[in-house]
Amino acid sequence: DDSFLVNADGEFIGFTEPAAEALPVVAIVGRPNVGKSALVNRILGRREAVVEDVPGVTRDRVSYPAEWAGKRFTVVDTGGWEPDARGIDAAVAQQAEVAIELCDAVMFVVDSRVGPTATDEHVVGLLRRTQKPVFLVANKVDDAVQEPEAAALWSLGLGEPRPVSALHGRGVADLLDEIIAALPDESAVAQPKLGGPRRVAILGRPNVGKSSLLNKAAGAERAVVSDIAGTTRDPIDEQVEIAGRVWTFVDTAGIRRRVHLQKGADFYASLRTSTALEKAEVAIVVLDVSESISDQDLRIIDLVLESGRALVLAFNKWDLLDDDRRRYLEREIEQDLSHVDWAPRVNISARTGRHLEKLVPALETALESWDTRIPTAKFNAFVAELVQAHPHPLRGGKQPRILFGTQVQNRPPTFVLFTSGFLDPGYRRFIQRRLRERYGFEGSPLVINMRIRE
Ligand code: GDP
Ligand code: GDP
Repeated sequence: DDSFLVNADGEFIGFTEPAAEALPVVAIVGRPNVGKSALVNRILGRREAVVEDVPGVTRDRVSYPAEWAGKRFTVVDTGGWEPDARGIDAAVAQQAEVAIELCDAVMFVVDSRVGPTATDEHVVGLLRRTQKPVFLVANKVDDAVQEPEAAALWSLGLGEPRPVSALHGRGVADLLDEIIAALPDESAVAQPKLGGPRRVAILGRPNVGKSSLLNKAAGAERAVVSDIAGTTRDPIDEQVEIAGRVWTFVDTAGIRRRVHLQKGADFYASLRTSTALEKAEVAIVVLDVSESISDQDLRIIDLVLESGRALVLAFNKWDLLDDDRRRYLEREIEQDLSHVDWAPRVNISARTGRHLEKLVPALETALESWDTRIPTAKFNAFVAELVQAHPHPLRGGKQPRILFGTQVQNRPPTFVLFTSGFLDPGYRRFIQRRLRERYGFEGSPLVINMRIRE
């Protein structure tokens, strides 16, 4: 039930890896007016309101970098949800469900002066089901006299209420001490902060033309690398400027070094592929059009899909293609690569330089898709429309329904659908197809997660 990747047939093909160096995430959940914004401000050490509330405009989740006792983490304020037609109860419940998905720990804020309400109880039901640490924050305990009111919140069954005053800061330090102690060093949900040139991995089986492509792309002057063993430390990554934009080609040392390995060194090839993918944001998988698409090519593509990285397919050695082979190739692509028909394809020749410039827009498109965030309101409108027009087929007299959906992260776009039952693979495939029809996502894998509620 973890984040999984599905192929075009809606079949499970792998899990997404937790990203390296991602800060743990603390989500703040609660009814309106319990003091969530005040608490966020207090944690961030700010007095002024963090968010300008524009009436009528739904503020989607907002995250802020925070630090306590030398530990850095991200605070996610999920408080901007406006109650819709179904009312405040449903809105807060949705907010809580999303928060649980995207965080490493939850702060559930209750107004101790009001005491637990029906909405609070509803949220408690959701919070009890998660394995993640939940902190029950009894807010507005401005002085010791009000402590007993906080104690009354034991009745919620979420453990010890932490009495705080977000407004005056009372109790907040103790609360934060406990929270950071409960946080993992690395988030299980967040993606690392990315910056600088976008990172590209050139992948492919031996002899497809990876180093030729790298050399051609990098320009002749950069192609000269010292191959004398032991005299230089291999540069692991290379900065390459193409069409006025700098890219980081990751683990190019591996591409260059592999030349010295024996042919068929499969193990090293896939090891290299995996390490390069870990560092990359987008992969160019190079295929040799003068040969048939092989199992090894498909394994490499699968590794990219499993890693959740963006994908561009480069069909190299186009100069060797004759009409016969070309017809075969088209058939092979249809047969073997239909599961990645969303990946941009460029037909290149590393030898002649043909169409190398087309790699740049392909990479940019793939990365843009990979970065895409669809606001929750929009995504839900899409889901609602789709479900209305094409409900899930009846299965054994029952009909699993999609109650609600949200994009919990990007890089790659990752969605969670809250459903009343297991969705058929065919129906998941259908959803994914519609998602691509609507939003494109050219060049990016999509992760679709299901949460079944009894
Ligand atoms: P949110 O909508 O849940 O984010 O709640 P706000 O942070 O906007 O707070 C709602 C109201 O409660 C505001 O008028 C705050 O000044 C007040 N408030 C928030 N925290 C405290 C507190 O610790 N003590 C008191 N007395 N009032 C508070
Ligand atoms: P790598 O093992 O993937 O790095 O592949 P190389 O770049 O070492 O290329 C393997 C062989 O294919 C070399 O002999 C290259 O000259 C040749 N080659 C690479 N690209 C092309 C191309 O576009 N056209 C042709 N005809 N040969 C190519």
